[in-house]
Amino acid sequence: MTIKREMLGILKTAKLNLERTAHRLNLEDEMLNRLLEPKEKIELTLNPTLSSGRHMQVKAFIVRHRDSLGPAKGGIRMSSSVTMDDVQGLAMEMTWKTALIGVPFGGGKSGICVDPAGLTADDKEIIIRSFTRGAMRHIGPEIYIPAPDMGTNEKDMGHIRDCLAYSWGKSITSGCYVTGKPVILGGILGRKGATGRGVAHTVAASCEKLGLDIKKTRITVQGFGNVGSVAALALWEFGAKIIAVSDITGGIMSEQGIDIKNLSSYVGHAKRIKGYPDAQACTNEDLLTCDCDILVPAATQSVITAQIADRIKAGIIAEGANSPTEPQADEILEEKEKFVIPDILCNAGGVFVSYLEYTQETQREQMTLEQVNDRLHNQMLEKFDEVYNYSKQRNLTMRQAAMDLAVSRVVEATNALGALP
Ligand code: NAD
Repeated sequence: MTIKREMLGILKTAKLNLERTAHRLNLEDEMLNRLLEPKEKIELTLNPTLSSGRHMQVKAFIVRHRDSLGPAKGGIRMSSSVTMDDVQGLAMEMTWKTALIGVPFGGGKSGICVDPAGLTADDKEIIIRSFTRGAMRHIGPEIYIPAPDMGTNEKDMGHIRDCLAYSWGKSITSGCYVTGKPVILGGILGRKGATGRGVAHTVAASCEKLGLDIKKTRITVQGFGNVGSVAALALWEFGAKIIAVSDITGGIMSEQGIDIKNLSSYVGHAKRIKGYPDAQACTNEDLLTCDCDILVPAATQSVITAQIADRIKAGIIAEGANSPTEPQADEILEEKEKFVIPDILCNAGGVFVSYLEYTQETQREQMTLEQVNDRLHNQMLEKFDEVYNYSKQRNLTMRQAAMDLAVSRVVEATNALGALP
């Protein structure tokens, strides 16, 4: 199936990936049609009163894609450009990710349509609380359990937990209603860095399979938020040379390698990469297409278009972000025999540790950081090997193998539940 050279965005990309998978798996149309559509889509109109007294109107979306394997799991994206279609596509991806990484969850996602960078801390809290009040009926340990995603963080998850408990006149929620909370509020040690560390584990595993010494690799990382900054730091600590890093303001590049600890402290103060003194400035396009061994897109969706894919020099592409590669670009990367670690595997460390947080909260027992990191490491390697071996046995790309494994599991669970409503 070849497609026209146009940007498809998250939902169309997710649907196309599913259709291609259904074709390989010989899925019946009835099942494919069921999986293409979400079980539930909710649109909220929030009317928060900001700290200045100004009223604001904010759209928010919640999608539960499938829950055959368990309650829907997926983060809350806060961005002025997030759409219902994005949230629907991301929720579908979560269904495959949770199935692939082996946790008893389905797929869900939320979006709040406002730019967090333009809000004061107080106003962001007001909007998060307004969202929680509006979304309350759709959130729960057996329904949908949100977590951080682009634009939201553990502080926001703490406000969600408080808003839920407060509304019920209780001091805590009984059961896990939200993951990625501050540790002091029942969060788990290591959740904040779990996605980025998981990305680094899959990169290390790829190097091993492809016979590369990670210490001799030159890596570029797009995005220096929750995922990108932790992945860059972990890879730098593994001994790799990080030669370029970027954020939404632009990037920096240095053939000598960037000291990621120094860069992290710089960004901690400056709140952006631009202006970092020990490297040359570059654009995001330069970063994606420069001469390097490994590219980690860890910022946002659809950044690897067909035009960019034609010019990518990295041999390994580790999808830290969700849906960073457009389908046409994916075909080009396949032709060029690039080794792509697909998002549903590469960035699944976060949802895996969210699952540990969920079980920890039920048992009221705190896991140590070492226990969390060991379980994360083992799970990422086990699932990486499973996908890698499956791809080799059937001559598939890593994305095709990951999708075939994940969709098969969801289909099996859907069939096992039975046909009656
Ligand atoms: P974040 O908001 O913490 O950071 C995003 C980073 O990307 C920032 O540095 C931002 O400046 C940069 N960025 C945004 N748009 C960009 C653009 N157009 N070009 C270049 N840089 C840009 O977000 P995050 O939590 O790190 O999430 C990043 C990606 O990883 C998203 O696709 C998200 O869905 C995915 N993801 C996140 C998690 C998680 O646990 N946070 C889990 C799985 C997947």
